[in-house]
Amino acid sequence: MTPEHLPICIVGGGLGGLTLARVLTANGIDTVVLEAEPSRHSRVQGGMLDIHAESGQSALRTAGLHDSFRTLVHPGGEAMRIVDRSGTVLRDEADPGTFDRPEIDRGQLRDLLLDALPAATIRWGQKVTGAEPIDSATGRHLVQLADGRSYTTDLLIGADGAWSRIRPLVSDARPAYAGICFLEVDLHDADRRHPAEAAMMGGGMLFALDGDLGVLGHREADGSLHVYVGHRCAEDWIDTIDFADTATARTTVSKMLDGWHPALRGMIEHADGPIIPRRINALPVGHSWPHTPGVTLLGDAAHLMSPFAGEGANLAMLDGAEFGRAIVASPDDLEQAVASYQEALFPRSAAAAQDSADSLELIFAADAPHGLARAFAAAAPA
Ligand SMILES: Cc1cc2nc3c(=O)[nH]c(=O)nc-3n(C[C@H](O)[C@H](O)[C@H](O)COP(=O)(O)OP(=O)(O)OC[C@H]3O[C@@H](n4cnc5c(N)ncnc54)[C@H](O)[C@@H]3O)c2cc1C
Repeated sequence: MTPEHLPICIVGGGLGGLTLARVLTANGIDTVVLEAEPSRHSRVQGGMLDIHAESGQSALRTAGLHDSFRTLVHPGGEAMRIVDRSGTVLRDEADPGTFDRPEIDRGQLRDLLLDALPAATIRWGQKVTGAEPIDSATGRHLVQLADGRSYTTDLLIGADGAWSRIRPLVSDARPAYAGICFLEVDLHDADRRHPAEAAMMGGGMLFALDGDLGVLGHREADGSLHVYVGHRCAEDWIDTIDFADTATARTTVSKMLDGWHPALRGMIEHADGPIIPRRINALPVGHSWPHTPGVTLLGDAAHLMSPFAGEGANLAMLDGAEFGRAIVASPDDLEQAVASYQEALFPRSAAAAQDSADSLELIFAADAPHGLARAFAAAAPA
């Protein structure tokens, strides 16, 4: 059977791919998003994101969704607190209310983008296993799915995150371990059920740091606390703990926090549900690729970086919006659109990736949290 032809095919319906799809469809350009997950509800999207004025918010303006976004922002969520292991506060910033980096629930942001797309744009449960060029003159590709089906496309966009199946078409780079493991937990209904931990967290983001170890977290819009214990350690350290055995894993991680303030240790000891371990990976800073007819990347597929500058989701959306604008400006010359998008993409993402790598070093520095507190003080308006 002849594969269905899609003029523009986006692989991956994360924040980056959906922003691109929204900008295209809002401008009358057809596209299809192939998404591996079976439905929008198949995975809890969880976690707060601060959406930066110059990147994520700019993308939402391009997508015509900034007004709706404002109604979903978590009031007070821009607050930030830095403490040491004893809970002594080194810096406490209230939400300035300037709307510079307002916080929104990731799931609500994804829903905003999904609801703005024609229903036929996103095809759920379509896991792409790979793609290959079938006409180097036109840049046409054949895209294969796990269920054996395939498509052809004139423009293939890998928006499929860290372990992109499209990236190998343009680059040999693979994500590498960035030196930090995260142990992730939630504390629900925190003010009522976990008042000491909720008071320590404050209204927004918390950094509790001590050299190689940190307790980082956010207060979520639903009143829960989302907490990450960050640990600078060998890549295989995670494998030394059986996280399926929640009680023992909790005791092990809590022991790592011996001598820390009880409310910081309590974020692990009193957590609801299992501890989710995750390694933080990154692509090389400055990852780029030669112009390749008919294919490009955006978001984490293009520039996976550690989360310590809070840039990844913002950049993914900006990439989507900027690439969308380039296609709208040059719908009959998609190669020109790809070239102009990539010309801005590479220096922009190299700068952000370097920022993220520098922030990782600051957050897990030997003198942490003092360097981070000094950096925030230096950046604060006079
Ligand atoms: C712990 C943590 C905290 C973070 N905090 C922040 C933060 O505060 N601020 C911030 O800006 N960023 C943050 N980030 C980074 C942010 O999550 C990512 O940069 C962002 O999600 C990238 O968006 P994306 O659309 O490129 O990729 P993704 O969000 O990864 O979306 C990719 C999509 O592609 C789909 N997919 C994958 N493979 C296939 C396939 N083979 N076929 C079809 N579909 C596929 C996936 O199901 C997914 O829906 C954080 C990351 C982590 C790990």
